[in-house]
Amino acid sequence: MALPKRKHSLSRSRKKLTHNKHVAPLLVECKECRKLKVAHMVCPFCGYYGGREIVKIELKEKKKEQR
Ligand SMILES: [Zn+2]
Repeated sequence: MALPKRKHSLSRSRKKLTHNKHVAPLLVECKECRKLKVAHMVCPFCGYYGGREIVKIELKEKKKEQR
């Protein structure tokens, strides 16, 4: 396995780590139910994405009741 020839300096490691940080998810208003949802993801409240119903939320609730 390839190994680095020299140890990275602390400054070099820290420079790399400045690009790692937690960022809050981008929230947008759902066009169907007007609730806040994560952008580019199916709405967890109504199951719509891009004007189409992708996930049926009622079915998920029924499965939870059976358990
Ligand atoms: Zn929605």
